[in-house]
Amino acid sequence: MLELSKPYIGKSEINSVIKVLKSGRLSIGPKLIKFESNFAKYIGTKYGIGVNSGTSGLHLALKAVGIKEGDEVITTPFSFIASANSILYLKAKPIFVDINKKTLNIDENKIEKSITTKTKAILVVHIFGEPCNMEKINKIAKKYRLKVIEDTCESIGSTYKGKILGSWGDVAVFAFYPNKQITTGEGGMIVTNNKKIKDICKSLRNQGRTKNKKWLNHEYLGYNYRLTEINSALGIEQLKKINKILKKRKAVAKRYNSLLKDTPNIELPIIKNEKSWFVYVIKLNKKINRENLINRLNKKGIDSKPYFPSIHLQPLYKKLFKYKKGLFPICEEVSEKTLAIPFYTDMKKNDVEFVCKNLKELIATNE
Ligand SMILES: *Cc1c(COP(=O)(O)O)cnc(C)c1O
Repeated sequence: MLELSKPYIGKSEINSVIKVLKSGRLSIGPKLIKFESNFAKYIGTKYGIGVNSGTSGLHLALKAVGIKEGDEVITTPFSFIASANSILYLKAKPIFVDINKKTLNIDENKIEKSITTKTKAILVVHIFGEPCNMEKINKIAKKYRLKVIEDTCESIGSTYKGKILGSWGDVAVFAFYPNKQITTGEGGMIVTNNKKIKDICKSLRNQGRTKNKKWLNHEYLGYNYRLTEINSALGIEQLKKINKILKKRKAVAKRYNSLLKDTPNIELPIIKNEKSWFVYVIKLNKKINRENLINRLNKKGIDSKPYFPSIHLQPLYKKLFKYKKGLFPICEEVSEKTLAIPFYTDMKKNDVEFVCKNLKELIATNE
């Protein structure tokens, strides 16, 4: 089976994990500190705070910028559910704004209409590695005194106007689940230039401990969101290879685009220099039955999945907020026709060719 994603793990990752296991120090140690400082250096921020997932990072980042019960946070309905859920953790309300048909990111021109006296922040998601219009978003945030949180979980290494994502907002959150560009197994990283945000995140990930005070002194209601030494060691090695990894992924995307160009009834993603590739997602013409195509690809040994269903139409959100179909029509339309196909760093030329050949055949014989 050609899977949708696969981590890119080499000898150096394996050796570094074995070393940690032999060292006897498995959590709160030197590997975390090194991974944090290397990562912050890569993004160009003052601080990096390692956490055990992107989701926990988003939770802490929102809490650290001051989001609390009753606040409104503007965000996108076209994302992995964790971005909106992190707002719910704080009993705040996600205010969805429809997306731009081309970039699939939040439509910055529709944000201002959704701002109320309760709005406290904009949580942007650079979807599939595609950069949001950060200049415009920061301008709006400044005008209305809102915080900007970047969900960079899919966009490590992407740039906007020559400046890397994760350094545009007040705080950003990266994720290292095995399907991301680089992985730590599970893990995440909060980055910021703001010392106060850094101190709050560091305390909250470790049971709300106060800094420089007695070990068991807890000032806030904290969590255990710590990243282990094993995960951190993996992260250090993966980060060393980031440029190579991003280059290889871009080459796979380019190969796909060149083999699939001129295929009727599908729309291909746009190749851009500033984009880091997370997934390869095509859009199917309405004429094509997606469920059917997924099943027929599966029979050929090719995995594929709809990416992403609209968040406001998820059962939880429909129940909580009474959302209905038709509220965010562009997002809904896109959600109904996107399809992610196998895509990973070390994907071989013949495997890309195999997927393209079958995809073309199955689309030509649409049932
Ligand atoms: C992967 C992802 C997350 C969550 O990361 P985890 O490490 O799986 O918790 C959040 N937002 C987006 C957009 C993601 O793709």
